[in-house]
Amino acid sequence: STAMADDDNNVFAKILRGEIPCDKVYEDDHVLAFRDINPQAPVHVLVIPKAAHVSAQDFGANASPEEAQALWAAIPKIAAQEGVAEGGYRLIANTGANGGQEVPHLHVHILGGRPLGRLVAKDG
Ligand code: 5GP
Repeated sequence: STAMADDDNNVFAKILRGEIPCDKVYEDDHVLAFRDINPQAPVHVLVIPKAAHVSAQDFGANASPEEAQALWAAIPKIAAQEGVAEGGYRLIANTGANGGQEVPHLHVHILGGRPLGRLVAKDG
């Protein structure tokens, strides 16, 4: 794991336990996806592993092949379901402090529905 602990009390752990609601768009044995509460584009979905992986670092080191396959298979399915596969979309997984990661449970943002502009802001 990383310096950031997946402390069981983070908001995505609570969503996974059903303690707070989400607007679910996809679920399978290993993956849950739901709409971001503060959407930055017409389509803004968060895709998370059900297991408590803190970040891309933790996931890459510790996820099973089945979990990793499930995450990468779910993303294009969700993009197609949300209608952005053809027009295009962006995947973002903010990781750690400089990445601006706010929630210590790996989440891949799917953003689409409009041209998304430059890759990153010029400054924080
Ligand atoms: P990060 O900055 O860590 O990459 O992204 C965290 C994302 O989680 C943000 O885009 C934020 O809007 C979203 N978020 C935070 N709390 C909640 C919540 O309770 N429900 C949902 N659906 N999204 C949330």
